[in-house]
Amino acid sequence: MVGAGPAGATAARALARAGVTVRLLDRSNFPRNKACGGGISLRVLKRFPYLEAELGRIATHTVGRLHLEGPGGDSTVVDAREPAALLVRRLEFDQLLVSLAVDAGAELVTGADIVQASMDAARVVLVTRDGRRFESPFVIAADGVYSVVGRRLGVNPGWPARAVALDMMEETPRDRLRDVDPSALWVAYGFERDGHSCAHGDKGRAAEGYAYIFPKRDHVNIGVGYVLQHFRDRIDESPYDLQRGFVEHVRSRGVVEGESVRANFTPFQIPVGGPIGRPGRGRVLLAGDAGGFVNAVTAEGIYYAMVSGDLAARSLVETTPLSERSLAARYRRACDHEIGRELKDSVLIQQYLFGDRRRIGRLIDGATRAPAITELISDFVIGRVSYPVLRRRLLSAAPHLAGRMIWERLRGLGASRDALDTYAKGAGR
Ligand SMILES: Cc1cc2nc3c(=O)[nH]c(=O)nc-3n(C[C@H](O)[C@H](O)[C@H](O)COP(=O)(O)OP(=O)(O)OC[C@H]3O[C@@H](n4cnc5c(N)ncnc54)[C@H](O)[C@@H]3O)c2cc1C
Repeated sequence: MVGAGPAGATAARALARAGVTVRLLDRSNFPRNKACGGGISLRVLKRFPYLEAELGRIATHTVGRLHLEGPGGDSTVVDAREPAALLVRRLEFDQLLVSLAVDAGAELVTGADIVQASMDAARVVLVTRDGRRFESPFVIAADGVYSVVGRRLGVNPGWPARAVALDMMEETPRDRLRDVDPSALWVAYGFERDGHSCAHGDKGRAAEGYAYIFPKRDHVNIGVGYVLQHFRDRIDESPYDLQRGFVEHVRSRGVVEGESVRANFTPFQIPVGGPIGRPGRGRVLLAGDAGGFVNAVTAEGIYYAMVSGDLAARSLVETTPLSERSLAARYRRACDHEIGRELKDSVLIQQYLFGDRRRIGRLIDGATRAPAITELISDFVIGRVSYPVLRRRLLSAAPHLAGRMIWERLRGLGASRDALDTYAKGAGR
C-alpha cells in the first residue's frame, strides 16, 4: 500500500483484518497534516460504523446547518433535522485512521517517499528516494492527487487543468480567526469577490469556483478554490492575496472576526473531473484522490477515499483466483456500483451550474422554496437515503434537468454541432 491518508489507511485496516500481510508506506511521519476543510458527510458513520466509538479520541464538531450563497447575491440557510456533517482536523483524523490500521496488524513504514514504480507479470517494485526497494504481488496506490505510483505505472497520466481544482485554504485557531456562526457550514458557489477579476470574460458563466468557512471545535478552515484552468485564465491574484482578500471580504460582512494567518495557509489540488475510467490495471489499484474519487460539486473526497480504499481491499480479498485481469475488473465494478453514478453525476451538475450563474441562483431559490427536496438531500448526506433513491426522486421532480446537464457536458467537451443536435433530438424524446 502506498499512501496512508484516508484511502490507504482504510484499505490497510480492511486487509489486515482479513488476515492479509500489509505494509503501509508513506513519505510523511505521522501525525502529518493534509490541506483539507475536514468536512465529511455523516453517512461516513453508517458506512464505517467502527469509527463512531473511536472519534472520541480526537476533536470533532458536527453541524446540521448550511449557509449557501450564489454569485448574484442570493443566499439561503438550510437546516437539516439533525447533524449532517462531521468536522475534523486532518492532522488528528488521519493519525486516528492510521492507528486503526496498525492496531489491526498493518505495518506502517514512514519516511518512504516512492519515486519509482514498475510492474511485471509477478510483482510490483517500488523504490524510495533514499534507495530502499519494496516488492509486492499487488499494490493499492493511495498516494493522493499527484500519485507518483499511478503515473509511473501508466494508470493515471495526471489531470488536465479542467479536471483539477486549486484549493487555497488556512486552518487557524479560533482565538485568531473565527466564524460568527459555528453551527453552520458557510459556502459560496461560483464565488466572485466584488470587483474581482474573475468576473470578466464570458458574462453568463459563473466563476468556476467556491469559497467556504468550516467551523472546527478549536479551529476554523477558510478557503477559496477554483478549477485550475479558470484560475490560470481568469484570476490575476496570487493564491495568498486571494485568500487574504476573501478573509477581508467576509470580515467586512460580519461573517468572521480576526485575521488571516499566512503561516497556516496551504494551497493544494483536488481532482474534480470524476474518477478515471480504469482505476485498476494489472497488479495496481488506485484509490482516493489518486483515482479521482472526489465529488465535483462539493469537493468532498474523504468519504470517497475511504470507500474506494475499502473496495480496493475487498476486491483483493474476494477475487479468487487472484488474477490481474479479474482483480482490476472487480474493483472497477465495485466502485461503479457504490459511488460511480453519484461521482459521474457530480461532474454533470458542476458543469451545469458553472455554465450559467443564474442556475446557482435558481438552486438557492429552490432550496428555500422546496423543503421536501432539501430534506431528501440531507437524508442522503446523513446516510438515510441511498443515491439511487435520491436521484430518482430528484429526476421525477425535475424531469428535463438530466438532459440539460448532459447537453452542458457535451458542449464543454467541445462536441460537434451535429453531435449536439443528435443528442438534443434523443433527449427530447
Ligand atoms: C484545500 C482542500 C480542502 C479540502 N476540503 C475537503 C473537505 O472539507 N472534505 C472532504 O471530504 N474533502 C476535502 N478535500 C479533499 C480531500 O482532502 C481528499 O479528497 C482526501 O484527502 C483524499 O484522501 P487520499 O487518502 O486519497 O489522499 P491523501 O489524503 O492526499 O493522502 C495521500 C498520502 O499519500 C502520501 N504520499 C503521497 N505521495 C507519496 C509518495 N510518492 N510516496 C509515499 N507516500 C506518498 C502522502 O504523504 C499522504 O499521506 C479537500 C482538499 C483540499 C486540497
